Amino acid sequence: MAKTSHRIKYGMTKRQVEKQLVPIIFLGHRVRVHKKVLKHFEAVDRRVRAYEENLGLKKYVPKQVGTFAYRNMRGKSRLSEHALGVAMDLDWSKNPMQHRRYQPTIPSYVTNIFKSSGFEWGGDWRSIYDPMHYQIGDGRIRPFKLPKKERKVSEEEKVNAYHKKYKVMNVTGKQYASGIKDPELKKMITKIVDDMRVWTYRTAEVDHQKMQALKE
Ligand SMILES: [Zn+2]
Repeated sequence: MAKTSHRIKYGMTKRQVEKQLVPIIFLGHRVRVHKKVLKHFEAVDRRVRAYEENLGLKKYVPKQVGTFAYRNMRGKSRLSEHALGVAMDLDWSKNPMQHRRYQPTIPSYVTNIFKSSGFEWGGDWRSIYDPMHYQIGDGRIRPFKLPKKERKVSEEEKVNAYHKKYKVMNVTGKQYASGIKDPELKKMITKIVDDMRVWTYRTAEVDHQKMQALKE
């Protein structure tokens, strides 16, 4: 789909394009892209890693990354955006171009980050579904808000919060048994009280869920 305006901007011939290619490490791969769109690819790489870091996700490292290739669009006589160094394909073995839509293996946050960094996605096209493909679109790098990491609340914290709120068994096993001298007995009482606290909380949770289910 290489538009004439794009050819004028990025290079009319293979040589003109090649002279303007610059290397970049992108999601763990060394590739070459057109220097005029370098900052867009850099934005995607940086945002993807920041996103993963924030949510504690495993890093997405594609098995296949392809950018510059002086060729026509698949099955067409028009030059591809790949020939200008402004398009990228990811994991094409598992995300082939098709007429029907399906769930791509590329994480959706990666696609969303591409889109907010000035790219269009082949998975949004109407004519053909090309989920591996990203190419420079309007080129605007929009503000991108990182999601906040959700802190995992332990059951112990939930139990404590519950008893504090409803003021039932508002002492922990350790507090309850603090005056007991016999270490064996102290251990036993501590355990009994803590088990009771957990049991009370869990029962209340089950009742709460039952009530919610009745409301729905
Ligand atoms: Zn492509």
